[in-house]
Amino acid sequence: MGNLGIDIGGTFIKYVYKDEEGEKKGKEYVRDVIQRNDLNGFLEKVLEIIKKFNPEKVGIAVAGLVDKKEGVITESPNLKILNNFPLKSKLENLINIPVFIENDANLAALGEWRYGAGRGKNISICLTLGTGLGGGAVLNGQLLSGVSGSAMEIGHITIVKDGRQCHCGRHGCLEAYVSSYGLERIYFLKTDKYKDSGEIILEANEGKEDAMESLEEFSEYLAVGLMNITHIFNPDVIILSGGIIENYPLIKDMSLSYLKHLAFNLPFRDLELKVAELGEFSGAYGSLELTQQNTI
Ligand SMILES: [Zn+2]
Repeated sequence: MGNLGIDIGGTFIKYVYKDEEGEKKGKEYVRDVIQRNDLNGFLEKVLEIIKKFNPEKVGIAVAGLVDKKEGVITESPNLKILNNFPLKSKLENLINIPVFIENDANLAALGEWRYGAGRGKNISICLTLGTGLGGGAVLNGQLLSGVSGSAMEIGHITIVKDGRQCHCGRHGCLEAYVSSYGLERIYFLKTDKYKDSGEIILEANEGKEDAMESLEEFSEYLAVGLMNITHIFNPDVIILSGGIIENYPLIKDMSLSYLKHLAFNLPFRDLELKVAELGEFSGAYGSLELTQQNTI
């Protein structure tokens, strides 16, 4: 018998199952049930995946703040149907096997450390750039989840006092600059035109100046975040993951050159900046690793 790692997102549930025979991974579309606010339909989808593999343990990654002690998702901006829902106890009652739950960005960091770009590293930090900006830290093989499970909310450190409004309601958060909506706003303030982040990246890849300059500015803000992380953790690797990086990898080199001027020389010397290797499955791999680290 093996273990199952699940990553619950607003559009897909992704999973990786691993036993002595090998790995199986896949994804299920769930946007329709989420948009209908159909909690039972959603749980049915999760149960279908679990029953297909009949695992010994299940790990689950969820976007939002997860109360580790209670197994309750307390604030999930993209999965509102799960707000204040006791997912852990509900599933454990239904399937009678241990269920472990963590924030998805934390588990993406754990997955990249164990199976991806952070393999063999002592202090591995992972940033997930998407609709929001998530972060996770693995220190000597241990996920830093915090007392309640909400450590490394790196998207919501302040980089500009009284700065741009963030989706969390605060002002000047790193996420308000370094996220898909952050990029859209950088472009809007430059051109007075609204464009979707995907379109901006496409235009930058075609060599259009406004889009390229917007991504350069985006990388400059990212470098401020990377500087803070470097000064706090002195990590040997920071991994950048998510669609924005995958589609415009130049961000890595641009932010690294800004970081060189911002950070202390000593921690910069020993830092490697990398792009994630597990793509959209890093959270599912992290959930799998979570089951393997938790022995009962
Ligand atoms: Zn914020």
